[in-house]
Amino acid sequence: MYNFEELDEITRKWMLEEFQDEEKSGNPYRSSRLSSIGLKVFPNEMEKAIKEGNEKTLALALYDPKYWKTSETYPRGNKIHTRKINPIKAAEFLAYTEFNTWYVRGFARRLLEEGEEFCQVYRAAPAWKPRAECLTHENQIYKVKKIYEGHRARYWPKPGDETAFCIPVGTNCHHSIKRVK
Ligand SMILES: [Zn+2]
Repeated sequence: MYNFEELDEITRKWMLEEFQDEEKSGNPYRSSRLSSIGLKVFPNEMEKAIKEGNEKTLALALYDPKYWKTSETYPRGNKIHTRKINPIKAAEFLAYTEFNTWYVRGFARRLLEEGEEFCQVYRAAPAWKPRAECLTHENQIYKVKKIYEGHRARYWPKPGDETAFCIPVGTNCHHSIKRVK
């Protein structure tokens, strides 16, 4: 379970507003692992989780194997390999990362609206495979604006900017943000 310090009505309202803005943009982020049925249900389940759920309820809602492709390809060296997709793991990876992504974006928006200049990055859940680069942002203080603008900066709308600053940086980064006390 993630430990979100201020997952209350006010934060959920900002998460929802930010989520709906991205949905309306015409090019919202979608996992490439989702099947065509999965792509249809995902935005509704995401919205439900933002309104009244959490990363666990979202994962549960996405466990159905119909929502996932059976395999995916990935490059290694100069070859393209194929691997099977485990729907339970895929649902958990996506749900945890997406729910936290919206929490960070929504909570950063809330802090900006409240006139806060800084926030602190912290580990909101234990990571079973921590990323080495996570050591550079753990417990660091950043400008809220930098966090807000870093939303998905690494991989969306354009893929591949490996140096862009964003929290969470991706799968297996369980860092979120909190108010500086
Ligand atoms: Zn991290």
